[in-house]
Amino acid sequence: MFKKGSKAYSIAHKKCPFCHEGAFFVDDNAYNLSKAGDLLDECPVCHRKYEPEPGFYYGGMYVSYALAVALFVTIYVAVQVLYPESPLWLYVVLILGGLVVFGPWMYALSKMIWANLFFKYTGVELTPAEREKAAQRAARRTAQ
Ligand SMILES: [Zn+2]
Repeated sequence: MFKKGSKAYSIAHKKCPFCHEGAFFVDDNAYNLSKAGDLLDECPVCHRKYEPEPGFYYGGMYVSYALAVALFVTIYVAVQVLYPESPLWLYVVLILGGLVVFGPWMYALSKMIWANLFFKYTGVELTPAEREKAAQRAARRTAQ
């Protein structure tokens, strides 16, 4: 549906935001609750790190919040259109139910979106800039 190289492809297929080939999550099934939202340390294909700094994915909470609001609005509007005479408790039950049902999926999706906001597609091969950085790191390591 989405072309490889677009951020939507990486998000929809849960692939590495850099090369769009390696897996991003430990388990692609967001409903495996013991591993929900757990990332691999690096891409199994291009070996770029997924967490540039500790706590990087805390920012995903903003995305998660936006997704929850979008779900809230969607359910609210759907009930308004389909059953305009509904009592308030129905809204509350459907919205809370929606959050429970879609929660694990939205949690994983929010990390995927957050990563794609900051990382861009570069392909599997290291870029010249990345190669230079890796060489500098290796030189520093041998100097110590
Ligand atoms: Zn990759």
